[in-house]
Amino acid sequence: MSDQAVPFMPSRLDGSGTAEPFPVFGDFSVSDYRQGMQAVMDLLQHRLEGTTGPFSGILPGELAPLFSRVDLDCPLGNLEQALVEVDDLYLRDAVYFHHPRYLAHLNCPVTLPAVLAEAIQSGVNTAVETWDQSAGATLIEQALVDWTAKRIGLGEEADGVFTTGGTQSNLMAMLLARDHFCQRRWHHCTREQGLPPESSRLRIFASEMSHFSVQKAASLLGLGYQAVVPVQSDRYYRMDPQALEAAILRCKAEGDYPLAVVATAGTTDFGSIDPLPATSALCRAHDIWFHVDAAYGCGLLNSRRHRHSLDGIEQADSVTVDYHKSFFQPVSCSALLVRNRHHLSCVTWHADYLNPFCARQEGPPNLVDKSLQTTRRFDALKLWLTLRTVGADALGEAFDTVIQRARQAYLLLLSEPDIQVIHQPQLSTLVFRYQPAGVDDQTLNRINPAIRSDIMRSGKAMIAGTRVHDRQYLKFTLLNPQTGLADIRAIVELIKQYGGQQLVASQAHASQHAEPEVICE
Ligand SMILES: *Cc1c(COP(=O)(O)O)cnc(C)c1O
Repeated sequence: MSDQAVPFMPSRLDGSGTAEPFPVFGDFSVSDYRQGMQAVMDLLQHRLEGTTGPFSGILPGELAPLFSRVDLDCPLGNLEQALVEVDDLYLRDAVYFHHPRYLAHLNCPVTLPAVLAEAIQSGVNTAVETWDQSAGATLIEQALVDWTAKRIGLGEEADGVFTTGGTQSNLMAMLLARDHFCQRRWHHCTREQGLPPESSRLRIFASEMSHFSVQKAASLLGLGYQAVVPVQSDRYYRMDPQALEAAILRCKAEGDYPLAVVATAGTTDFGSIDPLPATSALCRAHDIWFHVDAAYGCGLLNSRRHRHSLDGIEQADSVTVDYHKSFFQPVSCSALLVRNRHHLSCVTWHADYLNPFCARQEGPPNLVDKSLQTTRRFDALKLWLTLRTVGADALGEAFDTVIQRARQAYLLLLSEPDIQVIHQPQLSTLVFRYQPAGVDDQTLNRINPAIRSDIMRSGKAMIAGTRVHDRQYLKFTLLNPQTGLADIRAIVELIKQYGGQQLVASQAHASQHAEPEVICE
């Protein structure tokens, strides 16, 4: 970076008592903006081109001391130095999801149009809660909500709203289900009166593989974790409809109230898709709210090849969609869709300064009427620019590619004698463990998380870990269409290499401590 012209000088009074311009975005600062963006792009280019792995492998204890040098009360006074510091404290050791050997969590590489859209929306700083703060942005979000609802097949009365993520979408879905149930069953308006006396008997059914945000939602809604009934899954890690029916019947027999069923379309660990048609039929028969958590599996909505795996989702009362997972959008970008728009009214609050009651009929559309948030980012623009630039088919093909890659990786792992895979991938995750013959479970439970840490520390790749039935496993989450089979082969080699070393170390440790066994009683 050059050391000429330093834009973004902080505001300071000069001798004459007039202030230097405070660096805000606007017509008067377009050339500073351009110059600043150039500096940002130079930095990113330099950093990304110099990156050889998804992570540097740094430990918290190594990075944290750098922060002791920073005095937040003492600004550096120019953008260039501040960017050098950002590089030092953040970019050099950031975790890069675009790297083909990042196979850890459900993070995706993001589309270029989406990144550019973020630059537009953050400068203009639109807030989408009311028409008078957003105008066209409100219509863009609404168009994407309508488009998503149509792809799902929710029907004419559908609606929805963008959220910060699957956690908020699931919370909102359970809120709508709870309030709808209390209204219908007891003519009780939870919004005004709080929880009814019977609320401790409300029950939500979700498979044991469902996301923890369902429990969190239950607790935040005053129902407690106890409200969530874990339903057994089958050997493919999908909710078992027979177990679900038995659980619903048991619940009713005990005098409890089935409030909602959460079917997961793409479980976080296994990518398994609960049987949506059977679950929907049970919900209809027992008159229960049917929520589909498609935070991960929503990408199938764009896939010509695999869309059918979501058949039955069109029967849902509500659907969670995380565009920031399988639609390749930057965080945050997510939505909750509902079959019946009227249900969203349970989060409506009319504030005189914002969206007065008198304006609700003829007035302009105010998205705050259906959101848990007030001031809200225009997260829809990135999806809009992606769809208008490359289109949904391209997103679907990218998701198809990672699904295909997961199947190839599955076959590869099957051919490895020291690796045990515990499922056939339905989407793009793979759960397995390093398990050479003759090693006991306790050792394996120690070695597998250690392999994961060793790989992370090496900076050569990143993989995830999980626990299933009290055993430690390793996990690949594939969301990068640029991850090739060669990358996966290289990571498998790393697993075997670190696994072998861990095994030797643990055997050495065991023989040192294998002296006369003392039995204490
Ligand atoms: C990721 C995930 C969530 C949570 O979504 P966030 O966007 O991280 O809040 C919920 N459900 C499932 C199945 C997920 O995979």
